[in-house]
Amino acid sequence: QKHSHKDVNILILGIQGVGKSALTVRFLTKRFIGDYETEHESLCSHVIMIDGKPLSIHILDTAWKAGACMKDEYLLWADGVILVYSMVDKSSFDKLREIVEWIFAKKGEEKVIAVIGNKSDLIHRKQVSDTEATQFCAEYNCLSFDTSASDSYTDVSNAFNTIIREIKLNNKKR
Ligand code: GDP
Ligand code: MG
Repeated sequence: QKHSHKDVNILILGIQGVGKSALTVRFLTKRFIGDYETEHESLCSHVIMIDGKPLSIHILDTAWKAGACMKDEYLLWADGVILVYSMVDKSSFDKLREIVEWIFAKKGEEKVIAVIGNKSDLIHRKQVSDTEATQFCAEYNCLSFDTSASDSYTDVSNAFNTIIREIKLNNKKR
């Protein structure tokens, strides 16, 4: 799909259940619904206001399907990639290494890559330490955020807006 060069395309990856759809819906509608379709991917296009200006963004909220969503054409399309894990599921964090290695193998390190640790409201069940997450982000030069799609619009919108600003800067350089 061809969009204006000024548009921002964001690819969201991570295993099922980490909150990719919840985060997308939260950012775009300010709402948390709770149950989302998990079998199908969806492309959400919105015009948002950022720094006082309208901007068209396109978010591809993927369905994991055992990694079938790691498609080269998706990566080519994307200006930025958001890798989501759940703080209460260590395996979802471990999977990010495989995903980011694939991105780097495809020269995707030129894009903005961000890691979101979601479900921060479930802190009492936390399985991924801050140190692990920080180390991972330093190793792969990723932006790093903690969010709760269920509890906080502010954290989610801060994360997305920061990522979008970074993408705009990066697109100017390319
Ligand atoms: P996806 O498969 O990555 O798209 O994950 P979903 O967005 O469908 O979310 C999976 C499940 O986790 C759903 O039951 C959501 O209600 C729940 N969920 C998503 N985000 C959060 C969060 O921040 N906190 C909590 N407690 N649950 C969440
Ligand atoms: Mg989903």
